[in-house]
Amino acid sequence: MMNYKEILENIYKDIQPYSKTGEQAGYIPALSKVNPDQFGMCLCTIDGCDYAIEGADVRFSIQSISKVFALAMSLSVMGEDLWSRVGKEPSGTAFNSLVQLEAENGIPRNPFMNAGALVVTDILLSVLENPEDDFLAFVRAVSGSDDIGYNVEVASSERETGYLNAAIANLLKYHGSIKGDVEQVLHFYFLMCSVEMSCRELAKAFLAFADHNNRFCYSGVSLTSSQVKRMNAVMQTCGFYDEAGEFSYLVGLPGKSGVGGGIVAIYPLRYSVAVWSPRLNAKGNSVMGMKALELLTTETKESIF
Ligand code: GLN
Repeated sequence: MMNYKEILENIYKDIQPYSKTGEQAGYIPALSKVNPDQFGMCLCTIDGCDYAIEGADVRFSIQSISKVFALAMSLSVMGEDLWSRVGKEPSGTAFNSLVQLEAENGIPRNPFMNAGALVVTDILLSVLENPEDDFLAFVRAVSGSDDIGYNVEVASSERETGYLNAAIANLLKYHGSIKGDVEQVLHFYFLMCSVEMSCRELAKAFLAFADHNNRFCYSGVSLTSSQVKRMNAVMQTCGFYDEAGEFSYLVGLPGKSGVGGGIVAIYPLRYSVAVWSPRLNAKGNSVMGMKALELLTTETKESIF
């Protein structure tokens, strides 16, 4: 059995040279106020052990990691029909890019870039009776924490300066890819991004995606093991935008990042791991988080490759 606790502690020491590299997501005013010098990490194995270090229980803004939960909910309701509204190809572009949308008639490349997530959000608004409550209920159930919530201040701060996301949503509406009201889609999208969770809670939640042989059914969201396996495939190819190749190369696990500085990764049928540190690189991924995961799979020689 790997001594993950000791491995995580050694990783934390080894990444210290990167502790001042990068900056918080300044384009979301509320996130630029977060203390950038924080770090947490938690690894959960599918046989039920947790290994946590530093600020593993400090909650932070999960941002785009929420797109995995939104995809799970929409797949549960729509099944394969979902893929007629959004693709599953890597974009090779920034998370908030809109350049491909015009050329590709408003069908986003994948559900993890903002354009794709906005389409998924539109779907959730049209199929769920109480989307805001249902989303939280699912996230709470899959992570086993009853008091996870939205941070309305972060969501409205993002809306105030969210010109690019508004442009993407309007382009989607023009092409008929968003059926509902653009303002409602943006509101719910920013709210999902504003959910706050700790590394321990994220690692627990993603254990459900790591353990695809187990039944996936949480608060009415149910996926087959094949669907869970395929969600991992989309995380592998699209979870890090224009750094998906780099993440595969350095870390070698499916995963998802967010501009709050969190990254979650999965070693299928073995473990899930969440890491958080707010300083981001130019692609919007946590500097210390990427480095920590690279060291984890290098030290343990455990990756899907
Ligand atoms: N809410 C952020 C945005 O839409 C999420 C981006 C991210 O985490 N990559 O810009």
